[in-house]
Amino acid sequence: MSQHIHCIVNDCHYWKQGNLCVANEILVATDKFGANQPENVDASMSNQLTAQSAGSCMETCCKSYIPKGSNKITQDGVNKIF
Ligand code: SF4
Repeated sequence: MSQHIHCIVNDCHYWKQGNLCVANEILVATDKFGANQPENVDASMSNQLTAQSAGSCMETCCKSYIPKGSNKITQDGVNKIF
């Protein structure tokens, strides 16, 4: 089964033409969690994290977002799949 994450955030390191996310894994979190955690708290740590309620889609974010050209792209433990 082929699965894709579609994303239109084109300044992210993991964004690819065609509106695809090419991260091998991502972490979707509440805005509050995303705002308070460092770059290294990401998808690779998901089994250690406590799930939370968001309330609406406007209160969720992609924690794996990192700007293109950032010098922190290796801190999240996420890799490009192609
Ligand atoms: S990591 Fe998140 S923001 Fe970046 S391309 Fe993937 S889904 Fe979009």
